[in-house]
Amino acid sequence: MTSPSSTDAELDEEQLASFHDHLKKSTRVLALLGAGLSAASGLPTFRGVEGLWRTHDPFSLATPEAFDADPALVWQFYSSRRQMASSAQPNAAHYALARLATKMPGFQALSQNVDGLSERANHPQKQLQLLHGTLFENPILPALAVPTLGIAPAQHRTSEGAAEHENELDISDINVPLPFITIDDLPRCPKCKQRLLRPGVVWFGESLPGPVLDEVETFIDADKIDLILVIGTSARVTPAADYIKQARERGARVCVVNLNTDDRPVGRRNKDWFFQGDAAAIVPALLMPITEACP
Ligand SMILES: [Zn+2]
Repeated sequence: MTSPSSTDAELDEEQLASFHDHLKKSTRVLALLGAGLSAASGLPTFRGVEGLWRTHDPFSLATPEAFDADPALVWQFYSSRRQMASSAQPNAAHYALARLATKMPGFQALSQNVDGLSERANHPQKQLQLLHGTLFENPILPALAVPTLGIAPAQHRTSEGAAEHENELDISDINVPLPFITIDDLPRCPKCKQRLLRPGVVWFGESLPGPVLDEVETFIDADKIDLILVIGTSARVTPAADYIKQARERGARVCVVNLNTDDRPVGRRNKDWFFQGDAAAIVPALLMPITEACP
């Protein structure tokens, strides 16, 4: 990938300058991160997995009920998502956010992503709250590998037409049968060797991890907040939507980065910034005054 520049993203210079002025004065910053952050790494959004993952509706696989009914199928689904995430690379936005964290102790990132890409960009753990857990919590046994499902690199998928590169995988091929596995192939509790382990992600209808919510609440309640970055998420579900509101109440201005104008969080104000485009191009340009500054 070429290094991102403001021309790639066609950033509005006036907006950018105004954002930079505010960022340079900021000491306490929140970021809400969503699937759009990892889109430039070639990872489909959860919705985008639809049609990629066999004939199954991913929404029907991401529930406690689905796991109770068919744990092997649900594990195969998460195993294939984990394989996709493992073969993707963090992009320039993940690295810029990780760098902001090391430069600014008062920066907290709240991620809705489970793909491990912020972690692999060396985002400091204490400044990264995983609201929805992670695909990488539990070991995956070799039998769970779903070898025919891969990921087409982002630049291939954005180009028009058919495969240009011989190593591009056909991720839409649903005709290759899933390997047959039994319940004995699934990971179990290392202590009692009985209880089935489950993927370490938050499913539909479940509450978010309590310790993570506590950390976030402590951060928000501690002091005023200067800025909240909303990157690659429409932030329309709780608690994400509430965090924007709470940050505003603490004085924060809001900066949204999203590919689509439709995906802007609701309740926009005049002093908000909105940058439309690919997070991997925009976020590094936004954070440059801090990330590129000498210590
Ligand atoms: Zn046990």
